[in-house]
Amino acid sequence: MLNSTNPREALSWVIADIHRKGWATGTGGNFSLVLQSDPLVLLMAPSGVDKGLVKPEDLIEVNSESQVIAGAGKASAETFLHLAIASHMGAGAVLHTHSVFNTLLSEYYLDEGEIKLAGHEMLKGLAGNTSHEVEVSLPILPNSQDMQAMAVKVKNLPVKPNQAPGILLAGHGLYAWGSSLFEARRHLETLEFLLELTYRRLVLALKIS
Ligand SMILES: [Zn+2]
Repeated sequence: MLNSTNPREALSWVIADIHRKGWATGTGGNFSLVLQSDPLVLLMAPSGVDKGLVKPEDLIEVNSESQVIAGAGKASAETFLHLAIASHMGAGAVLHTHSVFNTLLSEYYLDEGEIKLAGHEMLKGLAGNTSHEVEVSLPILPNSQDMQAMAVKVKNLPVKPNQAPGILLAGHGLYAWGSSLFEARRHLETLEFLLELTYRRLVLALKIS
């Protein structure tokens, strides 16, 4: 369960829950929890596994060089992005989803380099926001298969006020993070809610005009 004090139980429960929501099908997505910050050690699912079937004992431990130091299986190529976000953003957990809405909107808004989220009560689900009267920027980077180059881009992202605890990769998915697994999950659910809302508002406006 999420409130388990055992990090393996908590993370595997969160992964299965995200899979049930349809945000990590076809082995897509990956999820990490910081076990140790200096030097960095992540607990995460191995590459290529069905995210609906990950058991606590299936999780692997990965060091700051993306090498598996405990458990069976390969580390995902995307581990470099998890490591960059954990170290650069000070995250305690990083949750990466491939949902239909985040994929679609990351392509739709790519030329603008961000999606602006404003005016909704659910913005209060993001740490630091106490009102719906705020505009939050969710940055979008072009996708690449070179995850080490992507990690450098993430580290070099300009820090703006009111930046969401998340990054979209165009045509690929969303990375969301938080200081703890609980906060990272809240941020992920809030951003996925706001992205679906953004999509549905676009459709509604198309219907009205
Ligand atoms: Zn991915």
